[in-house]
Amino acid sequence: MSEDPTIFEQIIAGDIPARIVHETETVAAFLDANPLAPGHTLVVPKEPHERLGDIPADEAADVWAAVQELVPRIEAAVDADATTVGVNDGSAAGQEVPHAHVHIVPRFEGDGGGP
Ligand code: 5GP
Repeated sequence: MSEDPTIFEQIIAGDIPARIVHETETVAAFLDANPLAPGHTLVVPKEPHERLGDIPADEAADVWAAVQELVPRIEAAVDADATTVGVNDGSAAGQEVPHAHVHIVPRFEGDGGGP
């Protein structure tokens, strides 16, 4: 591979520290370094697929299963009222890290945020 590893690959490899909250053979989830809210978590396929549509169906299913499992866990952990789940798919949509990822952003009554 000639391309440099993405920052998320480096986190998965343990080369960059991150607070890992969930890990399977194919998926990792860790706290966002610049959280929009307490508990803001990123869920990523371990393979460095750049865009959502690049993720093979079986890995995409694993990512979504992790999101479904994590949302109630994170809500309970930070006492959130709800959750926004989002993907910035492509640079014009705000994707900064070229390794597909799902944002789990805990929401609080009256926080005024959201897409
Ligand atoms: P994007 O804008 O690509 O959808 O989101 C990338 C996210 O990755 C941002 O919310 C940013 O805070 C997070 N991020 C960037 N670099 C790091 C890092 O080194 N560690 C962690 N934990 N999160 C990062």
